[in-house]
This record gives sequence, structure tokens and C-alpha cells, in this order.
Amino acid sequence: MHSTRQLFFELMAQTSAAPIGLEIEKASGCWLYSSDGRKYLDLVAGVSVSNIGHNNPMVIKAVKEQLDKHMHLMVYGEFIQKPQVQLAEKLCSLLPVNLNSVYYTCSGSEAVEGSIKLARRHTGRHEVISFRNAYHGSTIGALSVTGNESLKRAFRPLMPSVRQIEFGREEQLEEISRSTACVLVEPVQAEAGVIIPGDDFLGKLSDKCKREGALLIFDEIQTGFGRTGELFAMDRYSVYPDILLLAKSLGGGMPLGAFISSREIMGSLSSNPALGHITTFGGHPVSCAAGLASIDYITGNDLVKKAARAGAKFRELLVHDEIRNVRGQGLLMAVELDNPAKTRKAVSACIAGGAITEWFLFNENCLRISPPLTISDSEIETACRILLDSVKRA
Ligand code: PLP
Repeated sequence: MHSTRQLFFELMAQTSAAPIGLEIEKASGCWLYSSDGRKYLDLVAGVSVSNIGHNNPMVIKAVKEQLDKHMHLMVYGEFIQKPQVQLAEKLCSLLPVNLNSVYYTCSGSEAVEGSIKLARRHTGRHEVISFRNAYHGSTIGALSVTGNESLKRAFRPLMPSVRQIEFGREEQLEEISRSTACVLVEPVQAEAGVIIPGDDFLGKLSDKCKREGALLIFDEIQTGFGRTGELFAMDRYSVYPDILLLAKSLGGGMPLGAFISSREIMGSLSSNPALGHITTFGGHPVSCAAGLASIDYITGNDLVKKAARAGAKFRELLVHDEIRNVRGQGLLMAVELDNPAKTRKAVSACIAGGAITEWFLFNENCLRISPPLTISDSEIETACRILLDSVKRA
């Protein structure tokens, strides 16, 4: 008889030589419970997915109610399905008026793909500009606009006519021209190690895109739904895109993504050719029901303000000679140490001490702090005690 652990390593495709490899049996709030009887404070939240905490009762109720009605019925966009429509109505009520047409996808990468197609189709141009050290996903299009060679090199040739410029550097915006179909940007770069732009960078980027007729795409897949202490990171800067990308926490723990634009721009996907983007499972009704309950939970429990306050408390407590810097907004934080070896040791010590953290894809000097936004003061104190202890040991 093989254990689940053995079968995981034997039968499931492995994506690294050293996965965390914890066997989690159940999860609740900020806690993960392993099969060997241990519990872990989750400081990663499935990489900014579980903003409302694990197994949130409101989401579970909405999922169960929808399961009793129906699951998948038809490919995206053919039947009228209430959970999809209700979630679209809710999303549009929270966004500026020009973001009033929602296309649902299954994942963040698929939202990125759809948005690039939409921008190319709408502008009739093909050049795409994105930023160094941005992470936008792992499918060929999304990987092409990702800004780090370590993930891309082995898979070239990727999509043509794609270039990366330096994030936060105003003079580089000159690269955007009348050939540019779109510029894709994370308002706060997450996988780069939580890099926050200067106050006027996104505004200048938006002005330049408007002047050149290029569409501006914000990837809020990781920063959305209160993560940065604003409902969306763009709210802090009052700069809004032509296309917004959402996923991760959008589904309240269920798989769901979306690209959202104006009816006028989105219209480009319905003719010449019709069915300009097709998805079977995008906008799964159970995911949409979960997404709607999740947004209601976030707004009804003031989680956006709570995230801002919780982030400040983490920053107040995370003071140590070995910590170079604590960067972040709200509960998207990077704790910077001296080097990757120290970070790796600190991550292992943290997990051994009962808290889950990890480094960032493109910044191995930093520990990731992105817990559920529901984290309490006493859980923050526990987390910081484990983190400081781990940093000391590293
Ligand atoms: N964009 C950002 C900013 C992300 O952080 C991610 C995933 O980590 C993606 C896009 C891709 O999303 P997915 O993994 O759902 O395809």
C-alpha cells in the first residue's frame, strides 16, 4: 500500500525538485491542518487567493446552494446563468463606468491571453509592451509578456512583437508608440518582490497610452479584492485601465478569472470572427456564486480597511537586524533578507515553527507575507514571533 505522499511524488507531475510537500487535510480561516496532526498559520493564502480565509462559511453556503441548482451547462456566453450575471453586476458596480463588460475565464493566464487578443483585435496593432520582472502567467502568451528570462529562455521562440521596459522608469515610457496595441502592467509588481511604483508613474503611463492610442491593461490578479489595503491597487492612484484582469481571489477559493473592459472595446470579440475568444469552463456557475459571496463578505466585513491596518501591524512588529526592509501595501508584503540562502533557511524554519511562507518567483531575497485578510491581531503576533525566530536562525 502506497501512502498519499508516495503517490504524490510518483504519479503527480513535479514542478520543482523540492515542493513544500505538506499533506493538508483541512483548512479554516488562516489555519491549515496537516495529516500528521500539526497546524500551520497560512501567510501565503494560496498566493493571494484566500483573501476571505479558508472555508469561509458564506462562500460554502453559496457553493452548496448553487450545486443544488446546476453546475456546468454550456460553453461561455450562450446560456443566461444567474450567478454569472449577478457577479458581473456586482463587479461593474465596484468599478469605473468604462469597465462595464465582463468576460469570464478559468484562470489568470487565460484572462491575460484574452486581453492581449482583445487589444490586438481592437487596435489592429500587434506590439505588446510589458515590464521587467512582471509575472503574468505560464501559457505561451502570458509567458511572453512575463518579464523575466529565467522562466522564458527554455521555451523560446515565444510570441513575437513583445517587449519589456523597466517598471517605474518614466523615461522608458517613450518606447510606447503608435505601433503599440497594449501595455500590460501590475499596478504593484507582486512576484518581483512587491515593487511599488512612484505616485505618478501609473498616471504618466496612462497619459502616454492615451496619446499613442494603445490600450492600458492592469493585471490586478494578485492585488485585487483588498489585498493591498484598497479594494483594487489602482484605487490608491486613481488611475484606471482600458482592460482590467482579475483572478485568484475573485472566486473566493474557487477557480475563476475575468477580463473586464468597455462594451465598445469588448464588442471586437463578437464579430469578424464571431466567438473571438472561446472558453468551456470560464465563468463556472459555482465559481461565480462563490465569487459573489466572497465580494459580499469582503465589503460587509470591512476587510479592505482591516488589511491596511493588519499590514501596518506586521510592519511595526517585523523589526530585526537581519531584516533589511519590509516592503508592501496592506497585506501584500515582502520581508527582505540579505541573500537567497538566508531566505531559504528562514522559510524552512518558519514552516518547522508552524507558519507557511515562501519567497517570490523573481525575488529570492524576500519572504512572502500575504495571509488571508481576516487575520486577527493575535494571529499577526504569532506570525511575527515565528518569522522573527526563523530569521534569527537563518
Ligand atoms: N498575473 C499575476 C500578477 C499573477 O500573480 C498570476 C499568478 O500568480 C497570474 C497572472 C497567472 O494566474 P494563473 O496562475 O491563475 O494563471
